[in-house]
Amino acid sequence: MKKNSDLLQRRAAAIPRGISTALGVFADRAENAEIWDVEGNRYIDFASGIAVLNVGHRHPRVLDAARAQLDRYTHTAFQVAAYEPYLELAERLNRIAPIEGPAKSILFSTGAEAVENAIKIARAATRRHAVIAFSGGFHGRSFMAMALTGKTVPYKRGFGPLPGGVYHLPFPAAHKGVSVSDTLEALDALFKSDVPPEDVAALIIEPVQGEGGFLPAPPELLTALRDIADRNGILLVADEVQTGFARTGRMFGIEHHAVKPDLITVAKSLGGGFPLSGVIGRATVMDAAEPGGLGGTYAGSPVACAAALAVLDVIEDEGLIERANLLGTRARERLLAFAQREDLRPIGHVRGPGAMIAFDLLADRGTDAGPDPAATRDVLQRAHARGLMLLGCGGLGESIRLLFPLTIPEAVFEEGFALLEEALRRPD
Ligand code: PMP
Repeated sequence: MKKNSDLLQRRAAAIPRGISTALGVFADRAENAEIWDVEGNRYIDFASGIAVLNVGHRHPRVLDAARAQLDRYTHTAFQVAAYEPYLELAERLNRIAPIEGPAKSILFSTGAEAVENAIKIARAATRRHAVIAFSGGFHGRSFMAMALTGKTVPYKRGFGPLPGGVYHLPFPAAHKGVSVSDTLEALDALFKSDVPPEDVAALIIEPVQGEGGFLPAPPELLTALRDIADRNGILLVADEVQTGFARTGRMFGIEHHAVKPDLITVAKSLGGGFPLSGVIGRATVMDAAEPGGLGGTYAGSPVACAAALAVLDVIEDEGLIERANLLGTRARERLLAFAQREDLRPIGHVRGPGAMIAFDLLADRGTDAGPDPAATRDVLQRAHARGLMLLGCGGLGESIRLLFPLTIPEAVFEEGFALLEEALRRPD
């Protein structure tokens, strides 16, 4: 039998340390909400490959759709010969996305690529250059996406210079002492001292900050940003890479708000495990870039498009939006009960819409106790050792996020929470 330790040694020799891995194991196979490693150890998956598997590992309908596509063609390059799965998916995204008026969609492979292209489209449409993003936000690892990401370590350190024209605002979070008016005052100051609004092409925001700690954008912020964008000819971009496709209890995270963005970036759970991303937006904005200005050899792979069409069917037919709300409510109740328990480590700030839930490990019991990133690391390790795949998040790594597949069977969900409870037990 293969051993994780042997593979890890080979990994250290063959693969640079710049790509880290949360668990010291190699995957062998996976099914819905479970993964087995090469030694036969079983894990309950509360990570979903970083929010990719809202429909679970290897959903039979997704596999069938991909298989059927494999038997026809795997690649033509949309720029060489177009194909229907791309067209059908674009039409479907245009229909379901919360965009005002007619929409168009273009497909890529990764979230970062979607973000890069959303900015290219926004610049072409406005003929302006600047982009405003948020501290703590995450938009990817390519150059513009890295510049937009609001965290230096480990994402930017050593990789500069980054593209210019990028500005960051503080992201409001009550438990971090940042209010919506703090953010709006910072925007006002930015317009006065750094960049005039007429130079700004786009404002990009995650409806719920993902890597930044599952922090929901307050409704007043989005309303204000929409208003400021409208008054100044700025485009509002919702980065839905992590929030999209039922995770938050709506198809898109922005649907928790009354505002509609001009552009939406999507990726991760769209492809159901196949690399696929896209930009959906107002048709007139989307048409701003010249023919040939957008694309990519593999952008919108036919196999991934076929899988994505099945993902959208599964979300609809299996009622996964309702299920996200149901499981999310149960998860939240469990965590709030854990927060009361003396035999468990202190946790708090349970937050997030639908099934996009996170909490913090705290230095002590009580709402004003500070975060405890060391305890968070310890709990993650204990969870991994017990067979629960779990990810951290947050600016200091102080938070734990739950990203179980929305198709998770009841018994596996319960088992996962029992393991989480074990991992949270106070050390003797
Ligand atoms: N935007 C958001 C909101 C994300 O969460 C991520 C990935 N965590 C990205 C963009 C980048 O996606 P990818 O890793 O596929 O490039």
